Amino acid sequence: MSDHYAVFGNPIGHSKSPRIHALFAAQTRQDMSYEAILADKDGFAAAVAAFRARHHAGARGANVTVPFKEEACRLATTRTPRAEAAGAVNTLSFDGGEILGDNTDGAGLVRDLKHNLGCDPAGRRILLLGAGGAARGVILPLLLEGPADLLIANRTEETAARLALEFARLPACAVGIKPDGCGFAGLAGRSFDLVINATSAGLAGAVLPLPTSVFAPRCVAYEMLYGRETAFMTQAREAGARVADGLGMLVEQAAEAFFVWRGVRPHTAPVLAALRNPS
Ligand code: NDP
Repeated sequence: MSDHYAVFGNPIGHSKSPRIHALFAAQTRQDMSYEAILADKDGFAAAVAAFRARHHAGARGANVTVPFKEEACRLATTRTPRAEAAGAVNTLSFDGGEILGDNTDGAGLVRDLKHNLGCDPAGRRILLLGAGGAARGVILPLLLEGPADLLIANRTEETAARLALEFARLPACAVGIKPDGCGFAGLAGRSFDLVINATSAGLAGAVLPLPTSVFAPRCVAYEMLYGRETAFMTQAREAGARVADGLGMLVEQAAEAFFVWRGVRPHTAPVLAALRNPS
């Protein structure tokens, strides 16, 4: 009997996860299926229950995407520390009556930075733009890499300040640096070695009010969005930064979920190449 997995979201038609996991499964010779399931906005738990009922013990896990990550966190009966810190779950594992919730987004970002882009967060001055779900998911994994500094800047300043305070209180941060939070106006005169855009401004074509000074010489600018050139990417390139989009993070967070489920780490480079150059 093969094992069954799914990704739940709304919308879900655009999801690349079924393709990514099919490529991982073929590469590592795992007997499994992976499908995309559109859940009603108020029907996430019911959709998960229906999937489990359809496949019985063969239903082994699921990925969760917008807008269900917080609800998945509540649905889980136990959570990993990184999911707890994020307050959001993108990976569920089903084990009898138990549902383990994990969050692989931050690990995916860190792995893309270190292994694919040669940009180790250790010792870097990091600016994280945005204070929504994507930002929350990457803060702890970034802090655990030992950056020199982590500043969270957000359009709504209070949200950045609250988020920074919340993570500064985590015991894991006691040995490392404590993040700080500000509005975009607080960026005047500041410089960073790694600037990560975790806002959704690119989806709306909006330009972030960033002073050019934020991009230090040899800065890496990381746009979490993928599939388009955003104003942030253009702005960073014009300021001399090396620019990357979030496709690598997408593939790496999927690889981390695959590892959680199957205990096998797939090679991501050929999958990333296949997504970048569909033939
Ligand atoms: P949320 O809706 O939770 O948060 C949105 C954030 O963007 C908030 O901080 C919001 O600020 C800010 N924002 C929205 N519009 C603007 C604007 N016009 N100008 C400035 N700031 C703005 O979204 P998520 O955190 O879930 O997603 C953020 C981005 O990350 C998306 O583009 C998403 O596609 C991408 N992403 C990529 C992943 C990957 O694997 N590559 C994984 C997860 C997300 P405010 O608080 O003021 O409203």
